[in-house]
Amino acid sequence: MSAKLSKPLALYLLTNPPSLFWIYKCASCRFFLPDQRKCQVVSEEGPPRPGEINPEDWCLFWLNREGDAPFSWISRVINGERDPWEVRP
Ligand code: SF4
Repeated sequence: MSAKLSKPLALYLLTNPPSLFWIYKCASCRFFLPDQRKCQVVSEEGPPRPGEINPEDWCLFWLNREGDAPFSWISRVINGERDPWEVRP
């Protein structure tokens, strides 16, 4: 039994809201584990996308990474980064 929230409970969606202060997707969320395609708080089990948390998706518990400033994604876009969050070390 998982201690994480289920995808339906977290309102996990196969999309992300329009960018404003930040780009609101799993890739830019402090809880995302990119190497594992998992999340620290939402279970990867069950639909949609059984077995993974996708960097392009979003849920109700999205939270910006520590150290990221509001609107910082805009300068990344201007600098030509294809995905201003996933290229971040
Ligand atoms: S947006 Fe939700 S599912 Fe995605 S990494 Fe953040 S907390 Fe996890």
